[in-house]
Amino acid sequence: MVGSGPNGLAAAVICARAGLAVQVLEAQPSFGGGARTAVDPEYPGIRHDICSAVHPLALASPFFAEFDLAARGVQLAVPEVSYANPLPSGRAAIAYHDLQRTCAELEHGSSWRTLLGPLTAHPEGVLGFFLGDKRSLPPDLPTTIRAGLRVLAQGSPAWRMLAGEDARALFTGVGTHAISRMPSPVNSGAGIMLATVAHTAGWPVPAGGSQVIVDAMLADLEAHGGQLGVGEPVTSAPAGVVIYDTAPTALLDIYGPAVPDRYAKALRRYRYGPGVCKVDFVLSGEIPWRDERMASSPRCTWVEHEPRWHARRARSPPAATPSTR
Ligand SMILES: Cc1cc2nc3c(=O)[nH]c(=O)nc-3n(C[C@H](O)[C@H](O)[C@H](O)COP(=O)(O)OP(=O)(O)OC[C@H]3O[C@@H](n4cnc5c(N)ncnc54)[C@H](O)[C@@H]3O)c2cc1C
Repeated sequence: MVGSGPNGLAAAVICARAGLAVQVLEAQPSFGGGARTAVDPEYPGIRHDICSAVHPLALASPFFAEFDLAARGVQLAVPEVSYANPLPSGRAAIAYHDLQRTCAELEHGSSWRTLLGPLTAHPEGVLGFFLGDKRSLPPDLPTTIRAGLRVLAQGSPAWRMLAGEDARALFTGVGTHAISRMPSPVNSGAGIMLATVAHTAGWPVPAGGSQVIVDAMLADLEAHGGQLGVGEPVTSAPAGVVIYDTAPTALLDIYGPAVPDRYAKALRRYRYGPGVCKVDFVLSGEIPWRDERMASSPRCTWVEHEPRWHARRARSPPAATPSTR
């Protein structure tokens, strides 16, 4: 496996558990790619998630549902507020974990309920559609059709299904996670899937930072005989069957003229998506939210062993305060 981001590690874990001899080779000095956590250079007591910090799919993806992070000691806190968008008025548009409360507090909450209500009743069907391999029939056809129609409706300039500035802002915010042109079926698909998860499994934050998820996968890999190499970019083809968790263009650098012409042409035409950056703040006090509902909703549910949302149970938070928000 070349690259140790969460997708590469998931593939490596699956292969190692299937009895294959697996080696993971990572260019960076530490494992995890976009799911790494690093110590702040100025404030050593503070750790930052370099990219991903909030993990909607840590509960909802089929891989993690089976891997069961909670049973491996990873503490996942599901906040009462999944996400929110500031509005010019100073009031925020808020997507709570609770769909009913979300609809009650939006200006035209009924349109949010029409968009997401039927999907939140069948989250597994929604995830089966979006995360399925697209080569076989999705598991729940009626839900697939409902989700597909909503993707088309929300992915066009007509923005037909949502009424009210707040609901539209909320969907814009969740759709931008796809980092693509807007509106388009790509960001509307990401928005529909993530919003469905926000109101069902929730958007969990791992206590200790994203690295704890990476470390759990590394531990499982090693327990199944996997070998790890770090700090060296792969520049020539390793022996055996290789899976690349890299940009597709890495294949041109590594295999050069051995890449078939047609595929090489496609790789040369490959265009990277828009750039994105993230700013982390080290806080000297409480966040001065302009919308007081944001300040008054700090409660979390802690996830126990069963990874599926319908079996999630609340319990008291552990003694240690999570270092990530
Ligand atoms: C700013 C930002 C914030 C984000 N926030 C979130 C969030 O809150 N929640 C969320 O779910 N997602 C978030 N994401 C997305 C998430 O980080 C990615 O979806 C995820 O990291 C993709 O994983 P991956 O395994 O496909 O690739 P990556 O994580 O990119 O891993 C690829 C790995 O391959 C290695 N590599 C590349 N070339 C070579 C080579 N030649 N030899 C050896 N190794 C190589 C790289 O060093 C890297 O470690 C965010 C992304 C960004 C950029």
